Amino acid sequence: MATNEELIWQYLKAQGFSDAGAAGLMGNLYAESGLKPTNLQNTYEKKLGFTDDSYTKAVDNGSYGNFVRDSAGYGLAQWTYWSRKENLLNFAKQKKKSIGDIYLQLDFLMIELSSGYKGLLQTLKSTKSIKEASNGVLLQFERPADQSIAVQNKRAAYGQTYYDKYAGKTQTTTTPTTGGTQMKYNANNPPLVCMMKNSTCYKQTRTMTPVGVLWHSTGANNPNLKRYVQPYETDANYKEMIALLGKNTNKNDWNHISHQAGLNCWIGKLADGTVTTVQTMPWNYRPWGCGSGSKGTCNNGWIQFEICEDNLNDKAYFDKVYKEACEITAYLCKMYNLDPHGTVRMNGVNVPVILCHQDSYKLGFGSNHGDVLHWFPKYGKSMETVRNDVAALMKDIPSTPVAPTIKPDIEEEEEMTQEQFNTMMNNWIAEQAKKAPGDWSADARAWGEKNGLISGDTSGNKMYKKMLTREEFIAVLYRALHRNIIE
Ligand SMILES: [Zn+2]
Repeated sequence: MATNEELIWQYLKAQGFSDAGAAGLMGNLYAESGLKPTNLQNTYEKKLGFTDDSYTKAVDNGSYGNFVRDSAGYGLAQWTYWSRKENLLNFAKQKKKSIGDIYLQLDFLMIELSSGYKGLLQTLKSTKSIKEASNGVLLQFERPADQSIAVQNKRAAYGQTYYDKYAGKTQTTTTPTTGGTQMKYNANNPPLVCMMKNSTCYKQTRTMTPVGVLWHSTGANNPNLKRYVQPYETDANYKEMIALLGKNTNKNDWNHISHQAGLNCWIGKLADGTVTTVQTMPWNYRPWGCGSGSKGTCNNGWIQFEICEDNLNDKAYFDKVYKEACEITAYLCKMYNLDPHGTVRMNGVNVPVILCHQDSYKLGFGSNHGDVLHWFPKYGKSMETVRNDVAALMKDIPSTPVAPTIKPDIEEEEEMTQEQFNTMMNNWIAEQAKKAPGDWSADARAWGEKNGLISGDTSGNKMYKKMLTREEFIAVLYRALHRNIIE
C-alpha cells in the first residue's frame, strides 16, 4: 500500500510543484498532522472525547455537529479556524467524501492555495529552496502561534528528509521507464497522471476500499489515448499533458461533465506511439465501469481500466497493451496487498480479484459486454494467463490469500440516467392512478361525479390516487363555476 507520504508527494508533483516546493509543504504538513488526514489535534481528543477515527466518523455521519466551531485542529494541515473548517466540511459534503479522505483534503488544500495564497503557490511551483518553501507555508499559510527560528529550522529539516527521499525520482509528465526484470511501476515510478476532474464520475463518485482489478477494452478501433483522455484547461501541467497525449480536437474525450462513466486509468498510445498507462482518477475512487448484473456490481471495490482497442489484427500492439495491463495490475495488487489468484466473497459468489468485464457479466456483477474476451483468445491469452503473468511480475505473492468480504451496496442512485428515472416515475404515477380511493371521501366523490366535475380516463377510471396537475385543477374549477352547479 502506498504510504501517505508517497501519495502526497505524487499528488503535489502532478500539480506542478517543484521538488523543493513539495518538500517544503510536506515538512509543514508533517509537523501539523504527521501526514495523517484524520488527525484530530491531540489536546482536543480528551476534551471532546474522540479519537481521530471516531471524530472523523461522527463528522461524516452527522452525529457530531460542532466540527466548524469546536476550534480543534483537524486534517493534514490541521485546519482550525471556523471558516476554513466550514469550507472543508462543505467541500466534503459537496464531493460526498469522508472529511478524512486524503485526496479530498489535498484538493481542498489546492483550492485554498490557488484562491487565497496565489503568490505562495507560485513560489511552491518554482522555488529551488526548501527553506523558502517551508517558511512560506509556515508564515503565510499555517501561521501557528510559535513561528520562532527554531520552529522554522525544524520544519525545513522535515522538508529536507522528503526532498532527499523523493526529489528527482518522480516522473509525472514523462513516460515511466521499464526497468529490466523488475516491475515497471513502483512508488518511485508511478504511471502518468491526468486526473479527469471535469467528468461527472470524478466529481460525484464516492470512495471505496479496492479489493480487485477489472479489465475492459473499448470495443472501438482507436488505439490513441487522446481519444478518451485529456487534461482540463486549468490543470497546472495542461500543456505538457497535451504534448504527451496529443490534442483531441473533436472534444469527445471523457473529461466532460456530460460523461456518465469513469475509469481509474487508461492504456493506449501516446502522441509519439508509446504504449503506456495514464491514471485518470485516484485508485480508491469508485469507478462507473462494468455496470451491474442480477447479483450486484463489481464497481464496488474493483479498480477498473480500459485498454484502447485497435482493429484487433496487430499482434505487436496487442503484446504491448497486454504487458502494460499486467504491469499496472501488478502495481495495484502490490499497493493494495491483493492476491492475483484470490477471490472476494460477494453476495454468496466467489468473485476473482482479477477479472474482465465479460467475467463480471457472467457472474451477475456486470452489464452484458464481451470485453476483453472477444480479443485476447486470438493471441492465446485469457484472464487466467493474466493472473499468472501478474503473479510472476509480483514474485513475492502474499502467503495468505486476501479475501475481504464487502457488503455490496444496492443503491446505484448516481448511475441512474434521466431516462430511467422518467420511466420509473411514469410507472409510479400509473400505479397510483389504479389505486382505489378511501371510504372517507365517498360523499365527496359521489357529489363530484354526479355534477360531472371528475371525468376520469377513457375507461371510466377516476384515478383518485393520482396527483392533480395545475391543468386538471383549473379544469375542475372551470366546470364547477361555469355550470353553476353548487348544490
Ligand atoms: Zn467493458
